[in-house]
Amino acid sequence: MRAAIFTEQNGPLSVENVDPIDPGPRDVVVRITASGVCHSDLHVITGGLPMPPPAILGHEGTGIVEAVGPEVKGLRVGDRVIGSFIPACGTCWFCLRDESHLCENTYTVMAAPRAHRHDHTPLMTMTGLGTFADMMTCDEMSLVKIETDLPDEQLALIGCGFTTGVGAALNTAKVQPGDTVAVIGCGGVGQSVIQGAKVAGAAQIIAIDLVPYKRESALALGATHVVDPAEADAVEQVMALTGGRGVDYAFEVIGVPDLIVQAFNMARTGGAAVAVGVPHFMDSITIPSFPLVLSEKRLLGCVYGSAQVRRDFPRLVSLVQAGRLDLGGMVSRTMGLDDINEAFRAMKDGEVIRSVLV
Ligand code: NAD
Ligand code: ZN
Repeated sequence: MRAAIFTEQNGPLSVENVDPIDPGPRDVVVRITASGVCHSDLHVITGGLPMPPPAILGHEGTGIVEAVGPEVKGLRVGDRVIGSFIPACGTCWFCLRDESHLCENTYTVMAAPRAHRHDHTPLMTMTGLGTFADMMTCDEMSLVKIETDLPDEQLALIGCGFTTGVGAALNTAKVQPGDTVAVIGCGGVGQSVIQGAKVAGAAQIIAIDLVPYKRESALALGATHVVDPAEADAVEQVMALTGGRGVDYAFEVIGVPDLIVQAFNMARTGGAAVAVGVPHFMDSITIPSFPLVLSEKRLLGCVYGSAQVRRDFPRLVSLVQAGRLDLGGMVSRTMGLDDINEAFRAMKDGEVIRSVLV
């Protein structure tokens, strides 16, 4: 099989032929048909998300089941599947409480080596998936079967960015009709928060991004207002747009500590900041304590849009098929596995909402 390997921090990924390790009894072999390129992959390369090289990156993908181990119960050869970057085992303490986005088996699936380089070095995979490849072997609990005609390059985004963003609005914040929302950072995940807020019926959706193309795309995908933070203080601009009150929900979708604090400062009295962007693993934040208590402001963490993937993947597919959510508008470019480093360049230079490897 061919895969894009993370070999050294801040270096380019190396596309190589590698030897897959034989699947275990609960494993599934998937032929990958599309994989989105998410900023979390870049965080691994730059060291913000700790993962030792060498490893196969990619955690936002879809494909077709090629083989199943003898103990696999829910999947068959030929099934169309989306990878879940957090497994959903269905039986752990969290899964039994409808919190599969916190499934206890996350670290178990991530620890399994799935292939060898030609020098026999074992390769781990990002989040137990490793979608920057033509094949992957993963535990059954990391896969969700999907029946739809949506194209592969769209379906891939449900594996991470789309579910995380839409879920941040619908599940984590629980945006209500008429609410006001601000979104700091309008990449693949931020644009999905905007779409989630729109489908929830938010009255005002303020998109904040430094890049003009991202602000224009946000308007096309559901934002009602845009803010250029380079023009004037973003908090002041949001206050001006909300009659001095602030928004019900302010989402930080970049991963910068100061911007999480900024989101907190944009939230109205009684409102909430939702931290979706992944900060560097050594970062901390300091928030003003008075408004936390006396203005009853809340700060919510958000992993995977608090999604219950076996419920939410089909739900998102239905909303896309019904024309209520726009997945096609999120796919800026499709390219081959060999173009992976170009995809990261385009992300860093703000040229794309999402690049998808097909
Ligand atoms: P992206 O690179 O596509 O988007 C980031 C956006 O932020 C870009 O549009 C960029 O122009 C904008 N930006 C950067 N600095 C800015 C600033 N100072 N002010 C305003 N805008 C600024 O990234 P993405 O793939 O959308 O991911 C966004 C974040 O979400 C990343 O940190 C990623 O790791 C994280 N993420 C979190 C989860 C989760 O479960 N919580 C899941 C997926 C991704
Ligand atoms: Zn991701």
